[in-house]
Amino acid sequence: MAKVNGVCGPIDTAQLGFTLMHEHVLIANWSMRQAFGSRWLDRDAHVRFAVGEARAARERGVRTIVDLTPLNLGRDIDVIRQVAEQSEMQVIAATGFYWVEEPWLQGWEADRLVEFLVKDITDGIQGTPAKAGIIKAATDHLGVTDLNKKLLQVAARLHRATGVPISTHTDVHRHTGIAQQDVFESEGVDLSRVVIGHCGDTEDVEHLERILARGSFIGMDRFGLDFMLPMEKRVATIAELCRRGKVNQLVLSHDACCHIDWFPKEMVKQLAPRWTFRHIPDDVLPALRAAGVSDAHVRTMTVDNPRRVFERNTGSY
Ligand SMILES: [Zn+2]
Repeated sequence: MAKVNGVCGPIDTAQLGFTLMHEHVLIANWSMRQAFGSRWLDRDAHVRFAVGEARAARERGVRTIVDLTPLNLGRDIDVIRQVAEQSEMQVIAATGFYWVEEPWLQGWEADRLVEFLVKDITDGIQGTPAKAGIIKAATDHLGVTDLNKKLLQVAARLHRATGVPISTHTDVHRHTGIAQQDVFESEGVDLSRVVIGHCGDTEDVEHLERILARGSFIGMDRFGLDFMLPMEKRVATIAELCRRGKVNQLVLSHDACCHIDWFPKEMVKQLAPRWTFRHIPDDVLPALRAAGVSDAHVRTMTVDNPRRVFERNTGSY
């Protein structure tokens, strides 16, 4: 029986059920929170709101949410745990870094950073018993710079040490997923233990086939960000990949944030009104079925594939 570490304890992978593979309970800058407290983030109000969002997803059949917030985007394990406990949603938290090139990241060797992050997986996050169940890595428009290569090596070595899978942020239009695969491969990572994220932002099926050919899962994981690519096009791309026999490597999600402090709340609502944990069960699954994707294939993408991402843990932790 395989287990994955959820924030409220180990979860039998057979109990993961319908899993959203890339979401965020909270993205809020630690420096601004420290400096301005509740003026920057009303923590209690946020928890109440996020519990409501998670419960609404649960009522629609979602059983597990993977929170892919890296520690330098304000991962707050106490908030994540509270939301998981109160909503009864199974939540899996991440360790790892975002792609932003912060000054304090510059001077450290990859292995020194691994020594810190591995404790998130083996001991628990921020002094709590909640262990990370997935490793986040990210490469954006800058591509694999020297610093980014180091951060990808950190993710790869964490994975090699623990067996915990890797899930990434990419800029699919700049093909940074392929570049990530190159670094992971050079570090000896089995690419079938990696989810290359944000692949749903493109209709370029040939490019996605190149990523898939190397064995990785791909995240069709930004449903609700219609201004980047409308739902209909995201759905059509998935339907085409299913027709091409790739269903076993696709996972679904929204990359939705119950709160993100990068923009005023009203702006987020206006820009992406359906960007919630509910959009896939409410709108996307019916659209997939209408596009000819079978119930069995929907189950493969929402239940079986997430389970396979988390199984085969071969690490020693
Ligand atoms: Zn994300």
